[in-house]
Amino acid sequence: MKYAIIGAGWAGCSAAVELAGQGHEVHLYEAARTLGGRAREVNVHATALDNGQHILLGAYQATLALLHTIGVDTRSALLRLPLQMCYPVHSGGMQFIAPKLPAPLHVLVALIRAQGLSRADKMTLARFSSTARWMDWELNTDCSVAELLQRFDQTERLIQLLWQPLCVAALNTPTERASAQVFLNVLKDSLGASRASSDMLIARTDLTRLLPQPAADYVVRHGGQIHLGCAVQAISANKNQWQLRLSTTQTEPVYDGVVLATPAEVSRELLTPLQLAQHIPVFEYEAISTCYLQYKPGTRLPRPLLALIERPQQQVWGQFVFDRSQLNMTPAQDGLLAVVISASGLALEQGHAELAANCARQLAEDLQRPELATPIWTQVISEKRATFACTPGLQRPDNVLPMQGLVLAGDYTASRYPATLEAAVQSGKIAAGLLGKA
Ligand SMILES: Cc1cc2nc3c(=O)[nH]c(=O)nc-3n(C[C@H](O)[C@H](O)[C@H](O)COP(=O)(O)OP(=O)(O)OC[C@H]3O[C@@H](n4cnc5c(N)ncnc54)[C@H](O)[C@@H]3O)c2cc1C
Repeated sequence: MKYAIIGAGWAGCSAAVELAGQGHEVHLYEAARTLGGRAREVNVHATALDNGQHILLGAYQATLALLHTIGVDTRSALLRLPLQMCYPVHSGGMQFIAPKLPAPLHVLVALIRAQGLSRADKMTLARFSSTARWMDWELNTDCSVAELLQRFDQTERLIQLLWQPLCVAALNTPTERASAQVFLNVLKDSLGASRASSDMLIARTDLTRLLPQPAADYVVRHGGQIHLGCAVQAISANKNQWQLRLSTTQTEPVYDGVVLATPAEVSRELLTPLQLAQHIPVFEYEAISTCYLQYKPGTRLPRPLLALIERPQQQVWGQFVFDRSQLNMTPAQDGLLAVVISASGLALEQGHAELAANCARQLAEDLQRPELATPIWTQVISEKRATFACTPGLQRPDNVLPMQGLVLAGDYTASRYPATLEAAVQSGKIAAGLLGKA
């Protein structure tokens, strides 16, 4: 069979690999000149960075399996860190780091050893974990994460230092508006599963080189084609086949099936002439900003990843900081730090220049290193529609459409996971499975 995949984000790449691996002829169309969609390489100051610093979890089974299929050695491509939430030592935060012990001992011992938490905080956290396990991480009715934390009597300190940063990092939605059930799903697969599942994985290369490029190479090796800079402008049914109108040529290629792996808004537009737009709900979106700060070579953080205390009232927005020189071994990233701000709508109101200056000041203060206040250069990258807001009871569409041979893929389709790389990869695999079966 001959299939078209529209959109080479991680969902489209996943579908393309699955179908090419089954022996089908696959043509992958991507409007941009770079593969990867919302998780892609961008070139800044002649250095390969990402449109946003990402983190993966050991629980991302579909993503890890896909990396394996396309021949990526995950041991060298990903830095594997034990589950941790460590703040700079003098910033008033906490130090929580899982030791190399089997689950659930690793969390228990991390909790006992944690610094910066009182006995009451630790007991409350232990109770949360045991009650959530007892409930099998399932709620009868979804509610907000803030409500869940209140029901579980979580202390203010735990909410500030653990739950809020975890929730906003995983769901890109603040606790007051985030779905407790989806949050519990992520916790179940990470904290509640094996130690390896709770590990945090960070790409050592840029994101395009990590998965989309090797996926495209795999497709080509299996007889497929990749069309970059080629937007699909319309899809129409033609007898039992599908015809595409492309931005680059008058020829309208015909396919036995199509995976529509564009963002939800684009997919809705492409489905409108087919009377299928109502299948995709109108989502609310949340932004994510990454502030890159370049310092003189040799500038290092005590760890590759540190949590930061966000203080919106003081215009202090950084939530995590990554030391790119400890991730990426190329000299070009020596002295480069990346501060991440999820759900960054409010932070963006002050503009990129001010935001970068504030991030630099925050690093200088929290790490007690005055030299960090004056980086050599900074670059803020904001994705305004980074992910949909993952609110309680949100209805997400199935991959199936009521027309034979046309299916959806993307992080917004029905999933236990929030909008993440794993949701995108799983969705692409499901979509390919539906076409492959037809
Ligand atoms: C800044 C940022 C940080 C994030 N951090 C994390 C993280 O730490 N961990 C995590 O798991 N997830 C994270 N995410 C979420 C993750 O990146 C997304 O969930 C995932 O990349 C979505 O993939 P997708 O394939 O569903 O969609 P997309 O990546 O949006 O792919 C859709 C593709 O379709 C293409 N396209 C659009 N229109 C057309 C057309 N007409 N014709 C052809 N192609 C078209 C687009 O160019 C794009 O490449 C983050 C997202 C952002 C933006």
